[in-house]
Amino acid sequence: MSAEKTLFSRIADGEIPAEILHRDEHCFVIKDIAPQAPTHLLVIPVKPIPRLVDALTEDRQLLGHLMLVAGQVANQAGCGDAFRLVINNGAEAGQTVFHLHLHILGNTTFNEASLTG
Ligand code: AMP
Repeated sequence: MSAEKTLFSRIADGEIPAEILHRDEHCFVIKDIAPQAPTHLLVIPVKPIPRLVDALTEDRQLLGHLMLVAGQVANQAGCGDAFRLVINNGAEAGQTVFHLHLHILGNTTFNEASLTG
């Protein structure tokens, strides 16, 4: 019996609506439903890796791909010169969806002195 699909797998499969800004064989990018910055995008691998810490050595290329796509979509969103990439790993770090994703936060003012605020 297969495990229950994650929220993001259901979005990837079109079962839950979302605005998909990029899609390729390995990942897709959506707008966050509760944006915390004027630009708040999620880069999501098709493979439902629960947390970053669960990624395997064989996921090396996939992880690199996610970073490259993040840069490309940040550029397209007009924040290629100033954005933050955030991965919440684990519930105590704020992770609520246990399917790896990279938050792109941009088109806002950052507090250079703080990464944790
Ligand atoms: P995290 O807290 O790091 O697990 O991030 C999960 C993110 O997914 C949060 O920023 C949510 O606002 C976002 N989210 C939850 N449901 C949806 C959805 N249906 N479409 C787009 N983003 C979502």
